[in-house]
Amino acid sequence: MKIYLNGRMVAKRDAVVSVFDHGLLYGDGVFEGIRAYNGRVFLLDEHIARLYDSARAIALPIPLTPKRMAEAVVATCNANRVRDGYIRLVVTRGVGTLGLNPYNCRRPQVICIAGAIQLYPRELYETGMAIVTVGTLRNHTEAINPRIKSLNYLNNVLAKIEAINAGVMECILLNPQGFVAEASGDNVFAVRGGELRTPPTWCGALRGITRDAVMRLAAELGYPAREEVLTRYDLYTADEVFLTGTAAEIIGVSAIDRRRIGAGKPGPVTRRLAAAFAEYARSHGTPIR
Ligand code: PMP
Repeated sequence: MKIYLNGRMVAKRDAVVSVFDHGLLYGDGVFEGIRAYNGRVFLLDEHIARLYDSARAIALPIPLTPKRMAEAVVATCNANRVRDGYIRLVVTRGVGTLGLNPYNCRRPQVICIAGAIQLYPRELYETGMAIVTVGTLRNHTEAINPRIKSLNYLNNVLAKIEAINAGVMECILLNPQGFVAEASGDNVFAVRGGELRTPPTWCGALRGITRDAVMRLAAELGYPAREEVLTRYDLYTADEVFLTGTAAEIIGVSAIDRRRIGAGKPGPVTRRLAAAFAEYARSHGTPIR
C-alpha cells in the first residue's frame, strides 16, 4: 500500500507522523472520508470544498490548492489501483511544541490513504439496523461546530461507546436543546407521508455529502425533502428512518430505543433511494485514470 504524505508516495511502514504533531496531541486537524465507485472518485469536488471550509473554520492554512489536493486524491487511488474503495484525506496542524498554540506549528501535514471500508455487515442493509439515542449530546455549535469535520471526534467516540455498550452499532445524538442532531458518523432522515425531513446543520449536523445527494435524488424521484427541526417524537412516529454517510451509504433503521420504526425493516422509500443512489454513484465522479 502506498500512502500520499506531503507530496510524496511512501510505503505504508514509512507513512508516519511525529509524536509532536498537534493532530495527535490535540486532535487539531481536519479530514474527509471519500468513496470511489466504478473507477471514479465520488463527488470529489464537494469533499475538497468541505475540507477547505473545515480548515478555514479552524484557521488551518492548507499548503496546496484545492485543485492539487484533488489531484493528490486521484494519484493515491492510482498508486493503489483503487477503483472501488474508501479514501481518507487528513490535514493535521503539524509538528509544534507541547502547548496548545497552533501558530507554533509551521507545516501542516497532508495525508491521503486509499483503501477499503465495510462499516456495517451487508445483512443489515436488508434487515435494517437497530439503533438507540444516547446521553452524550452533540457539541454545541459554539463549542466545536459539528459542521467542522475535525480530527477531534471524541464527542462521536463517546456516543459510539454508549451505542456499542447498549448492544447496537449506531446511535442518534441530540443537541443541547434536545433536538435531533445526527448519528455518530452519519446523518439521519425521517420519512413520513412520502416526504423526507432531516435536521438543519444549525441543530448540530454535519452537512453530509451523501445527505445532500440524497435530498437531490429524492426531489427527482418525487419525494419532497427538506430540513426541519426534529425531536425523538418525529423519529419514533416516522414511517421510515434511514441514515446516510459516505461509508454507510444509505441504511434503513429498524428500531430506535427498542421501538419498532414503521414496519421494522427498510421501507419502500429507503429502498428506492438506496437503489437510485447506487446507480447515481456509479456514474458521478472524477475519473481515476
Ligand atoms: N455526520 C458525521 C458526524 C460524520 O462523521 C459523517 C461522515 N462519516 C456524516 C455525518 C456523513 O457525511 P458524508 O455523507 O459527507 O460522509
